[in-house]
Amino acid sequence: AFDVLVVGGGPAGAAAAIYAARKGIRTGVAAERFGGQVLDTMAIENFISVTETEGPKLARALENHVREYDVDIMNLQRAAQLIPASSEGGLHEIKLENGGSLKAKTLILATGARWREMNVPGEQEYRGRGVAYCPHCDGPLFKGKRVAVIGGGNSGVEAAIDLAGIVAQVTLLEFDSQLRADAVLQKKLHSLPNVTVITSALTSEVIGDGQKVTGLTYKDRNSSEFHELELEGIFVQIGLLPNSDWLKGTVELTSRGEIIVDARGETSLPGIFAAGDVTTVPYKQIVIAVGEGAKASLSAFDHLIRSSVE
Ligand code: FAD
Repeated sequence: AFDVLVVGGGPAGAAAAIYAARKGIRTGVAAERFGGQVLDTMAIENFISVTETEGPKLARALENHVREYDVDIMNLQRAAQLIPASSEGGLHEIKLENGGSLKAKTLILATGARWREMNVPGEQEYRGRGVAYCPHCDGPLFKGKRVAVIGGGNSGVEAAIDLAGIVAQVTLLEFDSQLRADAVLQKKLHSLPNVTVITSALTSEVIGDGQKVTGLTYKDRNSSEFHELELEGIFVQIGLLPNSDWLKGTVELTSRGEIIVDARGETSLPGIFAAGDVTTVPYKQIVIAVGEGAKASLSAFDHLIRSSVE
């Protein structure tokens, strides 16, 4: 059995594995795809101390760093079920989709999240070439340009307010007949001179010139007419889905599926920790996931040294 078993090999899982291995304890990482969301990212300019890098390059660096240590890396392994220890100090079990099973004294759950997509023509083709999901990451790339934000919930309205300070013009498109964001955010949004809000709008296509985004088409749900907007960027803000379906009924989750953790990264179950985008920790960023992974790992170590000797 492992002392620490990390589930997930993104920035949070990689950091957790390195911190555990440096304590000289038996450490394993089971990941469906080592690298996580970083693999789907092109320009990364906000991982502090690395001025500029590309996702696949950073993912390789994460893996190489983990491989410097005695860590059992189990790539292409998808966890299907968590069976918590039946008694304090017992072993937790992770059942894998391939039928295998792994046991550990402590667990660090770091299975990340994924952006909800619009599923319209052009979205995949222009992903990273005008279609973006993270205003903190990609906002500055659109300085002085025109962008749309899709989604009028809190994250969409926050993104529109944020982007309005960087870009020339923001158009916020909401499917419903009204925005769903908090009133205080809506008030701020409406006070901004370079933001236009269009409600009852169903985005139907991302348009591009083969290289990059040049606009989008939306359907006015009241008149059923289609309209076109010319712009350079589209920020999709219709939800971030935590990869926690497999945990339902075990560790406590919020209604949105985020694993509830305390300040030390511990979940509702003793000896089971979590880190990164899959948790309730706000602001889903690489630098934050790395810090949270390190923290959860130190907490797991602290748990181990306090557990009764068998
Ligand atoms: P993830 O990176 O999501 O990793 C999760 C890991 O868990 C993966 O290895 C996955 O395969 C694995 N996994 C999932 N389910 C299971 C399972 N059931 N069993 C086993 N393994 C599983 N952040 C920035 O700071 N700067 C940026 O510029 C930036 N740009 C981004 C651009 C894009 C297009 C995207 C999608 C995200 C971007 N982000 C950026 C966000 C950043 O990538 C995430 O915040 C970060 O990767 C979260 O790390 P994580 O380790 O928590 O999760």
